[in-house]
Amino acid sequence: MRIAVGGIHIECSTYNPVLNEEKDFRVLRGAELTTSPYFAFLKDYDGEFLPTIHARAIAGGPVARHTYEAFKAEFLEGLKALLPLDGLYLAMHGAMYVEGMEDAEGDWISAARAVVGEDCTVSASYDLHGNVTQRIIDALDMYSTYRTAPHIDVEETMRRAVKMLTESLKTGVKPILLWAPIPVVLPGERTSTVDEPAKSLYDMLPGIDALDGVWDASLMVGYVWADEPRATAAAIMTGTDRAVLEREAKRLAQAYWDVRKDFVFGSETGSLEECVAKAIASTTAPVVLAESGDNPTGGGVGDRADVLAELIAKGAQGVIFAGIADKAAMEACYAASLGATIDLSVGASLDTKGSKPVKGNFTVKYLLDTTEASDRQAVVSIGGIDLVLSAKRRPYHNIADFTRLGLDPLKAKIIVVKSGYLSPELAPIANPNLMALSPGVVDQFVERLPRLRKTKPTYPFDKDFDFTPETAISARAIGR
Ligand SMILES: [Zn+2]
Repeated sequence: MRIAVGGIHIECSTYNPVLNEEKDFRVLRGAELTTSPYFAFLKDYDGEFLPTIHARAIAGGPVARHTYEAFKAEFLEGLKALLPLDGLYLAMHGAMYVEGMEDAEGDWISAARAVVGEDCTVSASYDLHGNVTQRIIDALDMYSTYRTAPHIDVEETMRRAVKMLTESLKTGVKPILLWAPIPVVLPGERTSTVDEPAKSLYDMLPGIDALDGVWDASLMVGYVWADEPRATAAAIMTGTDRAVLEREAKRLAQAYWDVRKDFVFGSETGSLEECVAKAIASTTAPVVLAESGDNPTGGGVGDRADVLAELIAKGAQGVIFAGIADKAAMEACYAASLGATIDLSVGASLDTKGSKPVKGNFTVKYLLDTTEASDRQAVVSIGGIDLVLSAKRRPYHNIADFTRLGLDPLKAKIIVVKSGYLSPELAPIANPNLMALSPGVVDQFVERLPRLRKTKPTYPFDKDFDFTPETAISARAIGR
């Protein structure tokens, strides 16, 4: 069984003006792909897994057109060289936006189908914050998506997609794929599977999987910061019994629709000013204040200094702020010596129109010793605030991200991170967790962002309309 492996994995806010180029991706090619920890699980499945290219970046702005076209050309060339193929496994995210191109995964996947031909079986795994179209469904045979957010079942999901593919090739049974779009699209922070009602909805999936004729039940939350017609939630089913798959897709879609008004934030929220005031007044520590509108892992720029400005203005003490992406300010710290006090302009270095920088006198406290220029990080202090400046847009989700910079998050009174819901490592130490509904290109007040391309009606942008779930089958499955 000859099975090609590849894909492109990114989540793009169409409101983010900072383009992603080749340098922003971690690219796996050839043997590097199949031996990488990310794809190591493939060895547990029967089949000859043949690498093409897998390009992955953290969430951000649109992919530059030339970067996308170069990756796509390399991927298709790789596939052509591997023909004939029995199968193709695509490891995708599902919320890519390419400069001037809507439904970018539709473009990628249908181009792959055209190369591998109609006899090849194609399986895809997705992030539940992806958006799907009929064009995508029409090019695939099977589909599986994460069932947890925060995502702790990445490998499990990839395994489900590969298991269906290898079983299908072994037995010769070709499945039916169908879906039911749901006209609801909400931020991930209101649909975490740790909280209700998402928890109960996702708890339905193993029961559906167990039904005769069902191979996989997938529920997509969708990606709200994509101003594209395809931005919706969806129920997607793979299996062999069309009637059961249609019934369950409709049941799941209806269940999601029925609770649409119950999705709320899992933590205490407020405006940026309210959250800073509450954090300063807190009698427990560490307060973990998530600046949600600029969360780089949700597609935010990660360079805003609004929260920093407010902390300075209110004289906050005992703060660790990790971090702000500002290459020029970071480099100025490396150019100065440790302990030096220098004038810096911090923030608004990538999205120069989006926010205002903070100008001030900062003391250089720590410089990370690293040979990789993009990994450079400096800690500077101003008043009672220790601030991390990074060369690139990046999250601070793990305790080690702090300790390698000489910072102890447990000793802080206030930890500020650019995040939405907290990561599995930060959530347990938050005492309490506050989420600032701050401005930015991943604004949690989605209703206040411009909506030019989203399908109307869609909840929560439109509130007063009815919905009856309908399913649509993959063109591949007609007659199966
Ligand atoms: Zn996600």
